[in-house]
Amino acid sequence: MDDRQFRDAMGKFATGVTVVTTKVDGNVHGMTANAFMSVSLNPKLVVVSIAEKAQMLEKIKQSGTFSVNILAADQQELSMVFAGQVKNHKEVVFEHLNGVPVLPNSLAQISCEVSASHVEGDHTLIIGKVIDIRVEDSEPLIYSSGKYRLLAEESK
Ligand code: FAD
Ligand code: NAD
Repeated sequence: MDDRQFRDAMGKFATGVTVVTTKVDGNVHGMTANAFMSVSLNPKLVVVSIAEKAQMLEKIKQSGTFSVNILAADQQELSMVFAGQVKNHKEVVFEHLNGVPVLPNSLAQISCEVSASHVEGDHTLIIGKVIDIRVEDSEPLIYSSGKYRLLAEESK
């Protein structure tokens, strides 16, 4: 099986889009990620899967904290910024939740402490213990087959 076939298949799994953020030595670093999942309710745990080659991995290891920001429908540009697909963008302003940087106006801001990490192939699964959450009421940005999409009308 070649890589393209694998990616094409995985791309059929429609997801939301998150930006994972962390802060090291006062500098905020962000990275777009759709490999995100809720793991456990009691205790409250989430997981993000970070490529070994991503700068984010070392930064989360250093800080021991991160946030997952679930993007709203009008935040596609931020997804592209934090995936390195847009250059010369305007400065991104962050807020903080329990001392962890978060993206204003995202649908959910989930601040976490690293609870465990597992190297699997060319990615590391970072398990986050959820410390605090802020939620807003608007529509999500969707990612499917390599394209950004919006939700259609609710089915009856
Ligand atoms: P860089 O490539 O250096 O940083 C990412 C970009 O964010 C750069 O353009 C940088 O300038 C910008 N940036 C960082 N911090 C700031 C800041 N404070 N202010 C302004 N801009 C800043 N990869 C995964 O490992 N796991 C995934 O689940 C995943 N899902 C993805 C989903 C989608 C929809 C897309 C498009 C990409 C996904 N990627 C994923 C790929 C990942 O987003 C990119 O490879 C990313 O460039 C890796 O970031 P990095 O940490 O190596 O840092
Ligand atoms: P794509 O069409 O190659 O990806 C489709 C799907 O394949 C993604 O949604 C993801 O589920 C999976 N995938 C892609 N690259 C992967 C990787 N390196 N490791 C594990 N799973 C991967 O590309 P796209 O959706 O147009 O994404 C644009 C860029 O972002 C590409 O460089 C892609 O590699 C990267 N990306 C990485 C991940 C990841 O590391 N988990 C996830 C999504 C996108």
